[in-house]
Amino acid sequence: MPAVTVENVLVLPRVAEPEGAERKVLSVTTAPSGLEGEGFPVRRAFAGVDLRLLDPFVHMDQMGAVDYGPGEPKGTPWHPHRGFETVTYIIDGTFRHQDSNGGGGLITNGDTQWMTAGGGILHIEEPPEDLVMSGGLFHGFQLWVNLPARLKMTQPRYQDIRAGQVALLTSADGGSLLRVIAGSLGGHEGPGVTHTPITLVHATVSPGAQVRVPWDAGFNALGYVLAGAGTAGAEKRPVTMGQLAVFGAGDVLTFGAGAKQELDILLLGGQPIREPVAAYGPFVMNTRAELMQAFEDYQAGRLGSIPAVLAGSAVPIDPHPGHDVL
Ligand code: MN
Repeated sequence: MPAVTVENVLVLPRVAEPEGAERKVLSVTTAPSGLEGEGFPVRRAFAGVDLRLLDPFVHMDQMGAVDYGPGEPKGTPWHPHRGFETVTYIIDGTFRHQDSNGGGGLITNGDTQWMTAGGGILHIEEPPEDLVMSGGLFHGFQLWVNLPARLKMTQPRYQDIRAGQVALLTSADGGSLLRVIAGSLGGHEGPGVTHTPITLVHATVSPGAQVRVPWDAGFNALGYVLAGAGTAGAEKRPVTMGQLAVFGAGDVLTFGAGAKQELDILLLGGQPIREPVAAYGPFVMNTRAELMQAFEDYQAGRLGSIPAVLAGSAVPIDPHPGHDVL
């Protein structure tokens, strides 16, 4: 697993042993598999979990890991979004992104592409041509961060976060690599700038190691296992690849790797927005009337237009078939 790795984690700043109440594990769910866009394999990380526990997040797909043969890599065609932000993080492989607002580029091993759809944007997410030709390993995730009502129609924004900008830390015992992609952990700031305050950390825990990190008491807390196996919470609930642990209230998050297995876990939490969610396909709004308006605006071309040189594939309304929450 490339993402960003370091030769010796002991040279990194350490997150001090936190004090306060341990967050207990409320549930562990297993993500069902599905197909996204033109047919790439995903796990629907949040399936079956109450939206109020996920708030401010609404959806997450783990993409792969899949080892493609030549000609097999797939992406999405051009499609619209409104009302939230997409965060795409690539662990292995490369993804190309272009949007109708002029944002885009290649993201690869450990890079993050952060797109605020706001009032409306069209985009395409696909493997570059050379990767389609060669095939190869592809692994990452895409997270949807909700926007509050007052920011749903904000200007679109694009942030390109390179692997080298991610804040690298280690745990108090030096047994883990903690990559802070957005928000802060123990006072160490990550590079992502978010409308809704969140913390997003990709942690790799060595076999047998335990980690305790401070977690903002005002944030919710989720742990999604990207690879390997271990435990969540001080109570050591077993978790394995493709499982999501939802934590309750408190100040401290604890997790650990199995005795003989590494644990690759995504820790995420944010300040809950606590507003009604009306989501369907590519739109996340507050009311059904706003959803209808989003479809109407899209059909009328008001969410943007495909740059002429990049046009070629039809624009379907919904390349994200897994996200139907009304
Ligand atoms: Mn999309």
